[in-house]
Amino acid sequence: MSKRVMNPAARIAAVALATAGLGASLVAGAGSAFAAEGKATAPAALTASAAVAAQADAQAHAAAQVKAAVAKAAAVKATPVKAVKKAAPAWVKPVASYALSASFNQGGAMWAHKHSGQDFAVPIGTPVHAAAAGTVVKAGPYGGGDGPAYGNAIVIKHGNGTYSQYAHLSKIKVSIGQKVGAGQRIALSGNTGNSSGPHLHFEIRTTPNYGSAVNPMAFLRAHGVGV
Ligand SMILES: [Zn+2]
Repeated sequence: MSKRVMNPAARIAAVALATAGLGASLVAGAGSAFAAEGKATAPAALTASAAVAAQADAQAHAAAQVKAAVAKAAAVKATPVKAVKKAAPAWVKPVASYALSASFNQGGAMWAHKHSGQDFAVPIGTPVHAAAAGTVVKAGPYGGGDGPAYGNAIVIKHGNGTYSQYAHLSKIKVSIGQKVGAGQRIALSGNTGNSSGPHLHFEIRTTPNYGSAVNPMAFLRAHGVGV
């Protein structure tokens, strides 16, 4: 793109044209397109007073824009603290206090394949919380349909490709289709199904079904949860 230097008079006229709405695109194109289009659309008889008036208008407009920008910046500075305080964390621990027992992918006699979740050892009756907001898609005995090894279980859909599962529960407090918030109490822990002792079995899945689990601890930590 060739660069052309306009003389001051031409620049004022061009600015006046632009602000007067005769060529809005002139403002953006400061190079050759600017000069070419300016020439093409410039009426021969643009009076000096019109140019001055238009320029004054442009300056007033610019001043107003600066004022608005400053006000906006001040508003942005003032609001985030409040917003952060109000917003619930996206992901939370499924149980408040626990001892980590069997981990993801661990082998052993308890599982036909590798362990599909993380076990949180907790006494029977410990409140179990939704790890994030979502919709209950499975809730019931036999793993809510995933198989008897899970005992009473819940699966929550959090979004496309993200589900959490809670198993071996003693009591389920939600039903299929129910919307839950992050940290909402959804069940009491237990020892139902194929369980070696009282604990919560927790999975993160990419589908509602068994076999799609990913490492839940890595997932939670990647989402800012200190587990
Ligand atoms: Zn487990």
